[in-house]
Amino acid sequence: METKQVIIVGGGPAAYAAATYTARAQLESLVFVGERSGGQLMSTTMVENWPGSEHGIMGPELMLAMRAQAERFGAKIVEENVVSVDFAAPFFRVNDKGAQSVIIATGAESLPLGVTGEQELTGRGVSYCAVCDGAFFRNKKVFVVGGGDAAMEDTLALTKFASEITVIHRRETFRASKIMQERVINNPKVKVWFNREVIKVIGDGIRLTGIIVKDKVAGKVTEYEAEGLFVAIGHKPATDFLRGHVDLDEKGYVKTMLNYGQADWLDGYPTMTSVAGVFAAGDNVDFRYRQAATAAGFGVMAALDAEKWLESR
Ligand SMILES: Cc1cc2nc3c(=O)[nH]c(=O)nc-3n(C[C@H](O)[C@H](O)[C@H](O)COP(=O)(O)OP(=O)(O)OC[C@H]3O[C@@H](n4cnc5c(N)ncnc54)[C@H](O)[C@@H]3O)c2cc1C
Repeated sequence: METKQVIIVGGGPAAYAAATYTARAQLESLVFVGERSGGQLMSTTMVENWPGSEHGIMGPELMLAMRAQAERFGAKIVEENVVSVDFAAPFFRVNDKGAQSVIIATGAESLPLGVTGEQELTGRGVSYCAVCDGAFFRNKKVFVVGGGDAAMEDTLALTKFASEITVIHRRETFRASKIMQERVINNPKVKVWFNREVIKVIGDGIRLTGIIVKDKVAGKVTEYEAEGLFVAIGHKPATDFLRGHVDLDEKGYVKTMLNYGQADWLDGYPTMTSVAGVFAAGDNVDFRYRQAATAAGFGVMAALDAEKWLESR
């Protein structure tokens, strides 16, 4: 079996940043980018907070540049999903390829509402990231769907930009921590609607114009004008293929020393998983920041950890 020094699984900012570092360090690097090369940023337009892009950069343009940069240093890209792994020592197997070390950077997906119009209007008024897109909604009327801490955080982030934010939650109480709930409820820009759900998203062919909301108690259906809809009902890390091979938390995020810190992590490899030599980076580990720049930063850390670990053997 062909064996590489590093196999990277993923094709988003974390994977490409990792591949640039490992390939530039002259480690034979193979990258399985899966079916969605470029990752989440392929489904957005302008990214305004990528450091160094003064006037912003289009998501797909950024990802093609990251891929080309990794390839320039010799990383080999395969557009194939990884469906099977074997992390038994001393050599690992990823699909049909062998590896001395592995970096998992398979990202996560925001959970959609699954209603008519949502997919077509994503990036055109419908967003899954308030930190990323909030600034596009200055002085606009927006809605947030969700009831957990993430929805509360998104709502508070939006109060800096939007003129009015309505939080829609399908239950009669929030799931979020008390302190976050209070901050949201006490904010004069925020209205809260419990026991309601968005059942349809409407556009004019270009952008979001409205939402249809069902009042679950009264059974009434009403259309509202909307300029922005932020969906904050959770994320799913793309880690199903890892189950039973590395430790995952109850939501499927890969456990590393960094996110589930152990006392000795500073002396070890912060991005290492429960298997020595297997590292993880980006949104499949990070349930907190979920940004392109942080994912890339984690990718760089994983690459440096893998390099150091290979040298130590
Ligand atoms: C619409 C939208 C807009 C956003 N806007 C911004 C923004 O403006 N600024 C910002 O900082 N962040 C933004 N984000 C968040 C940002 O895109 C993510 O934080 C970042 O992409 C995470 O990078 P990642 O490399 O961890 O994973 P991802 O980007 O999720 O990439 C994961 C990759 O892994 C691959 N993969 C998955 N499973 C497998 C498998 N089994 N085998 C092989 N490959 C696999 C996929 O094909 C994909 O290429 C936005 C996200 C979305 C959805």
